[in-house]
Amino acid sequence: MFSIVNPFNTTFLSEHQYFTGVQVIKILQNSDHTAHTWGAKTIAERLNFIKTLIFSLTKSQHLMAKTCTLEMGKPIKQSVAEVEKCKLLCEYYLKNAEEFLKDRHIAADGSESFVTHEPLGVILGVMPWNFPYWQVFRFAIPAIIAGNTVVVKHASNVAGSAILLEELFKDAGFPEGVYTNLLIAGDQVKEVIDNPIIKAVSLTGSEKAGTSVASAAAAQVKKSVLELGGSNALIICADADLETAVPIAITARFQNTGQSCIAAKRFLVHSSIFDVFMEKFIKGVAELKSGDPMDEATYIGPLARVDLAEEVEKQVNDSVAMGAKIAIGGKRNNAFYEPTVLTNVTADMPVFAEEVFGPAVPVVPFDTLEEAVKLSNATGFGLGVSVFTTDVDAIKSKISLFQEGAVFINAMVKSDPALPFGGIKRSGFGRELAENGIKEFVNVKTVFIA
Ligand code: NAP
Repeated sequence: MFSIVNPFNTTFLSEHQYFTGVQVIKILQNSDHTAHTWGAKTIAERLNFIKTLIFSLTKSQHLMAKTCTLEMGKPIKQSVAEVEKCKLLCEYYLKNAEEFLKDRHIAADGSESFVTHEPLGVILGVMPWNFPYWQVFRFAIPAIIAGNTVVVKHASNVAGSAILLEELFKDAGFPEGVYTNLLIAGDQVKEVIDNPIIKAVSLTGSEKAGTSVASAAAAQVKKSVLELGGSNALIICADADLETAVPIAITARFQNTGQSCIAAKRFLVHSSIFDVFMEKFIKGVAELKSGDPMDEATYIGPLARVDLAEEVEKQVNDSVAMGAKIAIGGKRNNAFYEPTVLTNVTADMPVFAEEVFGPAVPVVPFDTLEEAVKLSNATGFGLGVSVFTTDVDAIKSKISLFQEGAVFINAMVKSDPALPFGGIKRSGFGRELAENGIKEFVNVKTVFIA
């Protein structure tokens, strides 16, 4: 039995019990049974359910947003926007899925040859709390449209949001077993992966959880997709338009109270404009409104748990002990951590070398683009990078130097249903969204006729 408390005021929200091994087996068998009938439907038939799901999302939007705000402290306006984005994802695949999954004819030395895209069966999703709806949709919707069924082990601290997700699919009329909430602890995941019913697994979360899940999947020769941590650099070149760049930089670091894998976690600013950037940036940070995440005016809420705020505090304090200076912020109050900006930071300090999953950012000067690229590539992660410049062609010619899954120019790194999303290095492997995402969990079957 475990309880969920509101990170804003520590009030009790709900109590849950992890499913037993017997309950888990029953769920897997049920999902497997449904996989046969669901996989036999045409894509157009499956898409009809997605159309209804969009109505269910609209109907449940307020309850879903409120539940996630209470459980993990996301400011309510951002929670509403997250549910809205789930609708966009459904609409994108409604338009494109049939084209992505249609048979592909390929000329070879027979009379005919082509590939088909068939579902794999039951796919396990292991999901994080930071975007409790979006992350699940990003995994589950393309997998389901491709004809798979999914069982989702969500993060324990958003168990209420996880239950609402299952209800959403029920409300939309999906056959039982297409989407099932699997309320289990992290240490029960290996046993689920070991079960022959599970055909593949997708994890979004920390490197530690990803390593454990990918190892379990590899031992059973099952495919895994890993969307892990990141420490994206945001590079401001000497010629950048600061009026555009500064507000975007603030959103890129501080939205969702800094708890985003693709947040800009290290700012690299050309030394010729360092002081003017800092002045504008600090002014913007000072204006961010912290408070009750249920208040529409709040931009910075508490972190999702007190231990997460303590971790950010430790990374900042350890960096200060190594010589970093705090330009603004630096204080914790329970789960709240002040928006914090650090200077005098070197690459070996925790705020630069590690992923900081909260509202703190180092700003580091550079003199040449080569130096900026080197600093940008200096961590083990490889999710994405943002570069702000008025000389777009100059950066376009250097794209291959960035060891990343994405390069965004004059924009923050963001996920868009139409664009492949994922990382390299220790940020994981595989891609979600777009055509790449819907093809992660299919059997690309080759047919050859002599
Ligand atoms: P987490 O602690 O790794 O948890 C993610 C999920 O994995 C939860 O459901 C968790 O369950 C489960 N889990 C934990 N340990 C496990 C284990 N040993 N075996 C199997 N499952 C396990 O991560 P988080 O704190 O929720 O999320 C923050 C991390 O996710 C950050 O590093 C962030 O960058 C990353 N992230 C990446 C992306 C991306 O797209 N690349 C997106 C969002 C977040 P319990 O809650 O029950 O422990």
